[in-house]
Amino acid sequence: MPELRKDPIHDRWVIISTERGRRPSDFVTEERKPVGGFCPLCEGNEDKTPPEIMAFRDGTRPDTPGWSLRVVSNKFPALRIEGNLDREGEGIYDKMNGLGAHEVIIETPLHHETLATLPVKTVENVLWAYRQRIVDLRRDSRLRYVLVFKNHGQAAGASLEHSHSQIIALPIVPKTVAEEVEGAKIYFRYKDRCVFCDIVRQELQQKSRVISENEGFLSVAPFASRFPFEAWVLPKKHYPRFEHMETFRYGQAAQILSETLRRMNRVLRDPPYNYVLHTSSFLESAIDDYHWHFEIMPKLTRVAGFEWGTGFYINPTPPEEAAQYLREVNSDGSQL
Ligand SMILES: [Zn+2]
Ligand SMILES: [Zn+2]
Ligand SMILES: [Zn+2]
Repeated sequence: MPELRKDPIHDRWVIISTERGRRPSDFVTEERKPVGGFCPLCEGNEDKTPPEIMAFRDGTRPDTPGWSLRVVSNKFPALRIEGNLDREGEGIYDKMNGLGAHEVIIETPLHHETLATLPVKTVENVLWAYRQRIVDLRRDSRLRYVLVFKNHGQAAGASLEHSHSQIIALPIVPKTVAEEVEGAKIYFRYKDRCVFCDIVRQELQQKSRVISENEGFLSVAPFASRFPFEAWVLPKKHYPRFEHMETFRYGQAAQILSETLRRMNRVLRDPPYNYVLHTSSFLESAIDDYHWHFEIMPKLTRVAGFEWGTGFYINPTPPEEAAQYLREVNSDGSQL
């Protein structure tokens, strides 16, 4: 019997359909084929990207080899950082100029590695770079939100093969985030508790949807997963902002993120995926009702007419089964 489930934050229904293709082997993911050719993100090609905004280097000069991570402006930015924010009305329509920032985080100098194959320490570096960029962009009073996201694999929208994530800073709080924040606020008003903290508590108790956990973090297949093998990474403790955590937490976060991606890699054979980092907007001050997290969405199915027309998602893999596949991938004792 299919089941309708409602997400407690987003007021969003999903259809968990058990009769469709649901095992990992039922999903045909396009194999990631090496594209080859010239790569502007590789070490040695620093002059082929815009100048670096920041980098982790061992004493080498900017825009030369000898780095472990670089952040550069996007060569084809969706938004630009120069100028003033002009808001305008045109009859009933509103518009403003495309002010913002669009940056690329080159996660490794090595072309063939991915976040799922790189050491945890490198993933931690990536999280530090996210943090540093968010802190820096926050200082710009024209901006209200920074979205960190990653497209992995062509099917998930990655135009370059080399492992990278992107940052877009916006002069408005995006709708998806605003809705999530609002949903969390409504829950808080009602119960006087953070909905994410409640999710963490219940998932740790129930265990059936937990993929992995350590002292500070856990990854779960959310109760109302929109997509097969969707996973969220959450801090166990209440942290509204990604950039405001004790230093040691970033290593813990990196370990769970890395482990979750590695398990997905094994179960789903290097699937294309997107992830987003959701954190509080710049507008909020003291926040009891919002809790930062990663949402990871493997691209195994296509969003079709029904989803577009209703906002309902049809998910052919119950999250309890997805979590079990992901948990058990290491049960033969092999090294994750
Ligand atoms: Zn490369
Ligand atoms: Zn919380
Ligand atoms: Zn979210």
